Amino acid sequence: MTEPHRWNMGPFTHDELRAQVEDRYAPLFTPLRIGPKTAPNRFYSVPYAGGWSMHELNLELEHRRTRAEGGWGVVCTGEAMIAREGVADMIDGLEIFDDADARAIAPIADAIHEFGALAGIELVHYGGIASPRTWRMPPLAVSQMQSDAMFFSTAVGQTMTRGDIRRVQDEWVAAARRARAAGYDVVYVHCAHSGQPMQFLAPYYNQRTDEYGGPLENRARFLLELLERIRAEIGDDTAIAVRFAIEALGPGGLEIEEALATMRMADHLVDLWDIAIGGLANSDRDLTPSRLYEEGASLQWSRRAKEATDKPVVGSGRFTDVDLMLRTITSGDLDFIGAARPGIADPFLPRKIAAGEFGRVRECIGSNHCAYSEVQYTFGCSQNATAGEEYRRGWHPEQFTRAANADRPVLVVGGGPAGLECATVLARRGFEQVHLVEAERQVGGHMRWFAKLPGFNPWGRVIEHREWLAEHLREVQIAPNTRLDAEGVLDYGGAIVIVATGAPWATVATDPFTNTPVPGADASLDHVLTPEQVILQGKPVPGRRVLVYDCQADQMALGTTQYLQERGHEVELVSPFADIANRAHQDGVSFALRGEILAAGGRLRPSLILAAVSGSGAVFLDETFSETEIACDAIVLMTRRASDDALYLELDAMPERRAQEGIQALYRIGDCAAPQDLAEAIFSGHRLAREIDSPDPSVALPALRA
Ligand code: ADP
Repeated sequence: MTEPHRWNMGPFTHDELRAQVEDRYAPLFTPLRIGPKTAPNRFYSVPYAGGWSMHELNLELEHRRTRAEGGWGVVCTGEAMIAREGVADMIDGLEIFDDADARAIAPIADAIHEFGALAGIELVHYGGIASPRTWRMPPLAVSQMQSDAMFFSTAVGQTMTRGDIRRVQDEWVAAARRARAAGYDVVYVHCAHSGQPMQFLAPYYNQRTDEYGGPLENRARFLLELLERIRAEIGDDTAIAVRFAIEALGPGGLEIEEALATMRMADHLVDLWDIAIGGLANSDRDLTPSRLYEEGASLQWSRRAKEATDKPVVGSGRFTDVDLMLRTITSGDLDFIGAARPGIADPFLPRKIAAGEFGRVRECIGSNHCAYSEVQYTFGCSQNATAGEEYRRGWHPEQFTRAANADRPVLVVGGGPAGLECATVLARRGFEQVHLVEAERQVGGHMRWFAKLPGFNPWGRVIEHREWLAEHLREVQIAPNTRLDAEGVLDYGGAIVIVATGAPWATVATDPFTNTPVPGADASLDHVLTPEQVILQGKPVPGRRVLVYDCQADQMALGTTQYLQERGHEVELVSPFADIANRAHQDGVSFALRGEILAAGGRLRPSLILAAVSGSGAVFLDETFSETEIACDAIVLMTRRASDDALYLELDAMPERRAQEGIQALYRIGDCAAPQDLAEAIFSGHRLAREIDSPDPSVALPALRA
């Protein structure tokens, strides 16, 4: 095992990987034909969106290039919209409306080819659920959808005439032609997740009475005509793939038997099937958050594709376990291991497997931060701070330059995700002495309690991976059981001091109208608790009836509620928001967990603001500002995580003492600066370590925009 910072990620060829890999894993590195093309191995980076627009093509390019460099045999772009009227405005992506677009995205294919991978591009049209705001034409619906079903869409479509169908098919064919001209090897028709061809297939959308509606043969007509025409146009030298949702498990798609029948009808026109799951309104089936689905859970549906085709099949399943990947390929369940999330978390997964460097893999935790972050703010990953920053900040996931000040001893105070990330990256940047001091017996910070919530164990991988790195980086010394105060820091001998003391749950709730403490809502009392007190410190939860008061609206309160339910408490989850845990909708777990909480006898109480806590219950203000009292034996406060920045601010206020003790620089990172998502805490630690020798590391260097 080479030391992590001596891990040479220089150029490679796929032949070299095949020569290197242990025989046992050789089936994962066996080439396979996809129509007229040959993929060098079975690692397939499937299409997924990063939220990058046509003005940010370098971000898209460098992100995909890095996956090819990491050894993926096929690397796809994100969605490429084929026509203005098919665009879903909620997320930016590629466009291939004309030849100029094709020229603009051609360098992405070139970059993927640099490393011997095939380049795939997913052509997409959202049909009747498009939201072409700037185009200002009603979207093209398969049939009239001016019904209550439009609840699921943001725009109301117009019924397509036969002329519209012909015109849209022309646009698909033109887009396919342009994709080939741009150098793409595998050209997709997106027929999943309510994309246009699926809208023709799904009775939910398709209520036509002409030759495009009614029996399956008619509903499949649009897809079949499209594939015939695309095949005639580019099929001689370009592989044609269909991303196909095999099992809708709800509205907006096909149930599995009709899906398999469709595959049989279209199979002669297709070179590869990329199998997705789920239709409208149940994207968790496709995104399989780790809280709800084991790794590989999608196989229960995707493996059935083989009943309908002999063509290669790729499917995703949050695969990170190499033995499961191997079984999946050797059993013939799938021909390619598809990945979005595992390759976002670790673009070098295939090369690490080839090298037998399994410990080095940054395993996806299935938080699904990536899937929603690009819609909300900036694409990111809970495990991999470099995801999305490959071009913008020039961060390579495995390569680190030696820092100009690497000879300075570093003290990191706090071993949560941010502190661990920072310490390990500093070591990889050549720092000889990186001491990480942690108050508790174990590192992990807030992951120590969070990963103990029912089903959230995979999130602990964030810590396990960094502990593994720290063990293998001789420069990193971890000192547990040591709580440092300002004097302790001054005495320690660090020249660079980084405070990563995190943000424990606030022990006092605050009235949102006055910003003053809520009477009685104080976790120094026996019947008022914080999650850390309950889960880590063993503070007894008195009585049976417990309220969880949640102002964060993410997964944490759902998990804490279930933790208490599992221990026999009757729990009511109370929130000031009208929609309980609305931020957890984004992670794909909210509906399921809310259902589980109700099924276990719990209660969800939205739109209540905490006003007072007494020994026998809590008083809330409802939407009319009337008081509602809920009787309970205990209340768990999940109002906010409060940055523990006292140590940092104390040190900051004593520049002379710091100078006397040889401290040249003082920084704060992660939740100590401000409470944030896990991905942002990791990013914060990583960012400081990457920029530790910049003119002012406390402020991020400007990042490239495009
Ligand atoms: P982040 O997400 O920013 O990494 P966490 O809250 O997860 O923050 O972790 C902060 C860590 O810092 C915790 O493990 C906590 O025990 C530790 N810590 C807090 N104060 C001190 C201190 N004074 N000395 C050493 N460790 C500390």
